[in-house]
Amino acid sequence: MRHIQDTLQATFERFGYAPLELPVIEHTDLYLKKSGEEIIARMYDFQYRSRRLCLRPEMTASVMRAYIDNLQNEPLPLRLHYSGPVFRYEKPQKARYRQFTQMGVELIGASQALADAEVIRLAYGALQALGLKDFRAVIGHVGILSRFLQNLKIDSRLRSFLLQNMEAMQKKGSAFVTERLRQIYPAFEDSSAQTMPRSQRLTALFQEMDEAEARLAVLDFLQNINIHLEGSRDADEIIARLLTKIRRRDQTPGLQSALRFMDEISRLSGSPAAVLPEAEKILASYAIDRSALDALRELVRALEHYGLGWEHISLDLGLSRGLQYYTGTIFEVHHGGLGEERQLCGGGRYDDLIATLGGLNDIPATGFAFGLERLHLALESEGGAKGGPQPLVRALIAAIDAQDFPYAVETAERLRAHGVPVELDVRQRSVKSNLQYADKRGIAFVVLIGPTERAAGEVVLRAMDTRQEKRVRAEEVYAAMQQMRGENDGQS
Ligand code: AMP
Repeated sequence: MRHIQDTLQATFERFGYAPLELPVIEHTDLYLKKSGEEIIARMYDFQYRSRRLCLRPEMTASVMRAYIDNLQNEPLPLRLHYSGPVFRYEKPQKARYRQFTQMGVELIGASQALADAEVIRLAYGALQALGLKDFRAVIGHVGILSRFLQNLKIDSRLRSFLLQNMEAMQKKGSAFVTERLRQIYPAFEDSSAQTMPRSQRLTALFQEMDEAEARLAVLDFLQNINIHLEGSRDADEIIARLLTKIRRRDQTPGLQSALRFMDEISRLSGSPAAVLPEAEKILASYAIDRSALDALRELVRALEHYGLGWEHISLDLGLSRGLQYYTGTIFEVHHGGLGEERQLCGGGRYDDLIATLGGLNDIPATGFAFGLERLHLALESEGGAKGGPQPLVRALIAAIDAQDFPYAVETAERLRAHGVPVELDVRQRSVKSNLQYADKRGIAFVVLIGPTERAAGEVVLRAMDTRQEKRVRAEEVYAAMQQMRGENDGQS
C-alpha cells in the first residue's frame, strides 16, 4: 500500500500538485447539498452536542471547503492532491469496504478541456507508473442528458431520478428503469399502451374548457359524489386548487421521450471516431444543442496531445456517476481483474460546487479519486508490481555473545547513518536461527559479530542470496555491502 501511495504521490507532484491534509470528521451539511442520495444514504453521521457531523464519505467536498475557508486568495489555477481514509456504510464484500483509502487530485480554477485532459493524463500516468496493464478509462459527459432533460417539462424530482438511472438503463435496460419509475410515478404509462395515456384524457378535457365551464364541471362532479361546497367560505379556493391539479401537465409524454433518448444514447460507447458522429445524429434528431458533444470532442483532441493510447481509453455516453455534483466531463477507470467492483478511479468536472458551498466566486474545478485497496487488488491480479516494494530491512546485525552486543549496536548505528534500514537481533538468537529469520524476511545481508571479530575490529558480512561471506573492517561494512551488491547484480 505504501508503494502504491508513494508512486501516486510522485506522479501527482511531477505535475505540480501540492499535498493538502484534511480532517476525517466534517459537517454532514457539506454533503447534503450536492453529493447525491447514493452517498448520503451511506454516511456515518451523528449528532455531537449541537452539531450534525459525519465521517467523510469522500474528499472532494472537503477540499472545496478547505479552499473556501483558507485558499480563496491563492492565485489560480490551484493544483492539490490528498490521501486518506474515507467511510461509507456499505455491505462489506470483496473490494467494497466500510473504510477504504482514497487518493486523488483537484485542479481548481480552469474550465478548459485542457484541464480535464491533464487530470485524465495524470490518472493514466499513475496506473502506468504502477505497472498496471489491464485497465480501461471510459469518458462521458453529464451535459448530454441534463441538457435534454432541461428542455422537457418534467418535475425536478423526476429529472434527478432519470439522471441517477442512466447507469441502470445501460446495464439493466429500459424495462428495468420503467419499473423503477412506476414506483415513484405510478401514473406513468409506456408508449406501447395507447396514443393518449388514459391518465391524460381528463387533463386534456379540462385544458380545453374555459374557466366558468371548468368550475361548473368540478362542482357537478363533486355534487355527484355527495360533496357540497356551496356556501362554504373556501369554495372558490378549493375549486381553483382542484382545477390546477387536474390541469397540471401529465409527465408521461416527457418521460417517454426521456427514456427513449436515454436508451439510444446509452448504447453509444467505443472510440471517438465511432461514437461522436452517431451521437451527433441522435442529438440532431431530438433538436438538442450540441455543446456537450463539442466539449467532448475538444477533450479528445486535448488527450491526443499527450499521445495517450486509445487502446486504454474509450468514450461512453451512457456513463453516469453516483456523485451528483458533476457538471461536465465524467470519467472512470475500470480494471479487468476486479470482477463486480471493477472501478479503480472516478472523477470529472464540477463547476458549481464551490459556489454551492458558499465560495466567493463561481470557480470551475475538475479532479478524480483512486481507491488504493482496489489498486492493490488490481496489482495482485496482474501478478504483483514490477519494480515493486523491496523488503523494508536491508541488513540484520547479530551479536554472538552478550559482550559483543555494544559492538553490534555501534555497527547498526553506523549503517543507519548511511541511510540503510537495519534490524538488530534483540532476542540473542543462535547464528542459525538468525540466518533462517533473515531468509524468511527477505533481508539481503546479515552482519555477524563474535569475540574474534570484535577483537580484530572486524565483522562477518554475509549476502543471503549468494551465501557469500566476507570479513571486513567494521567501518567498511557499508562500502562492502555496496560492492557485494554490485558484484551480485553483475552476476545476474
Ligand atoms: P467514488 O468517490 O465513489 O467515485 O469512488 C472513488 C474510488 O474509490 C472508486 O473508483 C473506488 O476505487 C474506490 N471505492 C469506492 N467505494 C469503495 C468501497 N466501498 N470500498 C473500496 N473502495 C471503494
